[in-house]
Amino acid sequence: MNIKEYFSSIFTGAHSLIKGMEVTGKELFTKKVTEQYPENRAELEIPERFRATLQFIYDEEGYHKCIACKTCERNCPNGTIQITTRMVDLPNGKKKMKLDKYMYDLGSCTFCGLCVTSCPTDAIKFSNDFEQAVFRREALLKQLNYLPEKEKPAPEPAAKPAAAAAKPEAKPEPKPEAAEPAKAADVQSPNADKKEE
Ligand code: SF4
Ligand code: SF4
Repeated sequence: MNIKEYFSSIFTGAHSLIKGMEVTGKELFTKKVTEQYPENRAELEIPERFRATLQFIYDEEGYHKCIACKTCERNCPNGTIQITTRMVDLPNGKKKMKLDKYMYDLGSCTFCGLCVTSCPTDAIKFSNDFEQAVFRREALLKQLNYLPEKEKPAPEPAAKPAAAAAKPEAKPEPKPEAAEPAKAADVQSPNADKKEE
């Protein structure tokens, strides 16, 4: 190395050092984006449409809207959903298919959303609860209808037609008065007038 190369390498090193310090110095004043997870769990804002896991939609009274049609199961491309059903007898003598178990394997779900979009009753949706890590693969298999099945109350009997409701009530027939026994004085003999003449 001659003297020229020696000073050239010093200059190159100093230049790259200043360049690096410039980048580091700029980051001192830019907004921090590092997430301090899990300490910041309470402040985390997960996007509403993030697909974390499939779940049933239960209303406040504990009813779901699944009619056990199995459309979601048929549309799932990789067999993630397994539905078992049973036949029940209705009070009117008919039979109806009811949901027994709705099993969902989070481990094989590709989050394509076909099940949700094809459901005719909007009974399922994706939650954005992203903390789904477990230690055992079997724990990823979930029963979505976890609440005990409730029977819906029987519908009210149909209201009477308006015409029937407007029909006046039939008045009770007046009772015939009891015939009083005829008084002897009131009974006139057909020959009475003749006698007076
Ligand atoms: S999101 Fe796709 S892969 Fe997952 S259960 Fe639904 S249909 Fe199947
Ligand atoms: S979740 Fe929807 S598509 Fe799937 S069985 Fe129930 S009603 Fe049918």
